[in-house]
Amino acid sequence: MLEPAKTKAINLLDFDRKGLMAFFVGMGEKPFRATQLLKWIYHEGVEDFDQMSNLSKPLRAYLQANCIIATPEIVVEQIASDGTRKWVLQTDCGNRVETVFIPEESRGTLCVSSQIGCALACTFCSTAQQGFNRNLSTSEIIGQVYAAQKRLGSAGKITNVVMMGMGEPLLNFDNVVAAMNLMMDDFGFGLSKRRVTISTSGVVPAMYRLTEVCDVSLAVSLHAVRDELRDELVPINKKYPLSELMEACRENAKLAPRRTVTFEYVMLDGINDSMADAEGLVKLLETVPSKINLIPFNPFPNSPYRCSSNNRINHFKNYLNEAGIVTTVRKTRGDDIDAACGQLVGQVQDKSRRHLKLKLAESERANTIDQTV
Ligand code: SAH
Repeated sequence: MLEPAKTKAINLLDFDRKGLMAFFVGMGEKPFRATQLLKWIYHEGVEDFDQMSNLSKPLRAYLQANCIIATPEIVVEQIASDGTRKWVLQTDCGNRVETVFIPEESRGTLCVSSQIGCALACTFCSTAQQGFNRNLSTSEIIGQVYAAQKRLGSAGKITNVVMMGMGEPLLNFDNVVAAMNLMMDDFGFGLSKRRVTISTSGVVPAMYRLTEVCDVSLAVSLHAVRDELRDELVPINKKYPLSELMEACRENAKLAPRRTVTFEYVMLDGINDSMADAEGLVKLLETVPSKINLIPFNPFPNSPYRCSSNNRINHFKNYLNEAGIVTTVRKTRGDDIDAACGQLVGQVQDKSRRHLKLKLAESERANTIDQTV
């Protein structure tokens, strides 16, 4: 006899296949119910338990009474002139996250958020200015893919997912891994591991854990080749400096022959874009099978940086390519709707008080300037 669950709303999008098996076994059902249910949800798009005809009547009634299939709700949709779409999703009453769909000729990439805001304080990223509220649940992460594909309908197909939206995915390890499992599961979205990418600012211990449990493509936000500068741009570097980061990357690259790690490098005028930096990059990556993705800096209000000139970016790129590292420049997409890298802000009830600290620092700076004038 099935016991009613303690709380009514168990969101079934919170479970990957393994989790769902445990859920069904825990209620005395057979483990294969998990794949049946996944197929209904992710292949058929059926959310009404009554329509799940291969589940027994009592099981359907139990699910109906105790479970939901719920994603965050899309509350705003913007479509950029280049076809990029940005959705704002309501996660709870005070918070919203953003998800971006980038259509290209041969693929459609969804850029997914992992946290409400971000606890890291990278100086060139506007999400960082929002402060941090909480981790997204598995259902809120996979729910972005589910809701986006449903909204797109026949207007576009999600073929790739990049965990490059708001937040640091490796600081929300379990929920992100479960969501990525669902992206790659044949009974889920069925994307190949090459088409699911996680991007990290370099949370080294979690990188090792990831290498052990989940084989997705890895991107690392590098942005500087000297610890001194990286400490400033990506402050988590103070905890996990470049030498440790590179070791973790080498370990990840060992997962398969010819596997590479992608290094993201934001181009900041006069900060990290000299030819000495390019030389340093070649040297740093000598022993790591790598690709480099140069990202033109996307400005946001009050940002202290400017983007390097096109000339400089091309020069930098050519140098790296000639040194034998496959290097591309990320095309800026959706910037007219603030959907480009580092521009996602959503709405964050900041618990870290970061935005207050930043405001304070700003007014202190302004005061000092006043005094010097
Ligand atoms: N926290 C993770 C996931 C975010 S991915 C990480 O750091 O990798 C978003 C990517 O866009 C990262 O490489 C980030 O460094 C980069 N980025 C952030 N702000 C940017 C900006 N203003 N212009 C261009 N790229 C930016």
